[in-house]
Amino acid sequence: MCLIMLDMLMERGISLEKAISIVQLEKKTLSLELIHLDNAYGRILANPLNSKVNDPRFDNSAMDGWAVRKEDCSEGNETILQIVGISQAGNSESIRVGPGEACKIMTGAPIPIGADAIVMIEDSRPDNENVIILGPARRTYIRKKGENISQDEQVLSKGHYMDAASISLAATMGHETIEVFCKPVVGIISTGNELAMPGSEIKESQIYESNSFGIAALVEGIGGKPIRYETVTDSVEELRNSLDRATENCDLIITSGGVSMGDFDIVRKLMELEGEVAFWRIKMRPGGPPLFGKWKKTPIFGLPGNPVSSHLVFSMLVFPWFTASFGTHKNSKLTLGKKVRVKMLNDVKGAPGKLCLRRIKITNDTEGLIATTHTHQGSGNIHSMVAHNGFTLLPPDTDANIGDIIDAFWSN
Ligand code: AMP
Ligand code: MG
Repeated sequence: MCLIMLDMLMERGISLEKAISIVQLEKKTLSLELIHLDNAYGRILANPLNSKVNDPRFDNSAMDGWAVRKEDCSEGNETILQIVGISQAGNSESIRVGPGEACKIMTGAPIPIGADAIVMIEDSRPDNENVIILGPARRTYIRKKGENISQDEQVLSKGHYMDAASISLAATMGHETIEVFCKPVVGIISTGNELAMPGSEIKESQIYESNSFGIAALVEGIGGKPIRYETVTDSVEELRNSLDRATENCDLIITSGGVSMGDFDIVRKLMELEGEVAFWRIKMRPGGPPLFGKWKKTPIFGLPGNPVSSHLVFSMLVFPWFTASFGTHKNSKLTLGKKVRVKMLNDVKGAPGKLCLRRIKITNDTEGLIATTHTHQGSGNIHSMVAHNGFTLLPPDTDANIGDIIDAFWSN
């Protein structure tokens, strides 16, 4: 860790890639818990999930119509078949369809013995005990047993993010409960003498504290459990006490503010004196001065106080800590967005020696993805994160001009 620190001081920050690899080494081994499907949204599977059943469980009809023998129906001609019964979803009685016979059938109902095709109800006309078949009899209207999933097949893998469809799938496979990773508990501490809580009376020299709320939402969105601690002033003692409290309860600590070069940047000061610093500063703008290390036994991110910086550093650097801890696959649905190529419709300036993340609005055009900038780009302007839906990934020392196609991150 000390070597990296030296390296970083000499380079005035390390690359984002290097920072991510360091962060991921400090991933947390999370315990498991068994939860009901009702509570599964947004959780991460801790073990693969196999199906308890075939899906479909039995051959059944994809249409409301008639179960028939295909050879009895000649396409293009009307056929008269005798009705022998009705197959309803949930029926367990076995019905037999013989030559010249048809059984009325509902979507999802079992296919009667002897039938091998379905005629849609719209392609028929009832005639007392008979039905007159007017349209085609199709074998493809039968959903075959196990054609989606076979019994015992491993369908979801460890690290899978449980979105709505995955929850339905787990239920389809017969699981009432699933084993997931316990949510990592993340303590969030904002620092700064100028901070007042939203809703409280505010003095002329104060601003509303916003970072802890946004960071808590980010933590929650990726399957963590945020604890927002009380804001601390720019006092080393207060910060030390708060960090000590957080380290008792949390798997990860995130601080906001106090990591730059200012006289009152106490997170950096305290970490350098009493903590363990793995790196400080990355070659990225905005979001240059983050710090990562350990306070006592707990990994800690010191995020910059500027609201845009803290959000962007979370996306680029803190998120990889979560994916490493969850063992998330590259193609997982647990993402904060995706890397895309966009065509710029206006010029954007890059940054000397740093990866540059300018907020952009990405839209889908007939030609592909296009991007524009709207609001003021300052790292203090959190509105720029709401007015835009992505950001550039401009390599160091690279500007983008109108018409250039560049890498970007689309947080749609
Ligand atoms: P710092 O990183 O502490 O030097 O703060 C950089 C800028 O971000 C300053 O303008 C601070 O007032 C602002 N800031 C720091 N912490 C927060 C916070 N929790 N919420 C909103 N703004 C903040
Ligand atoms: Mg500060």
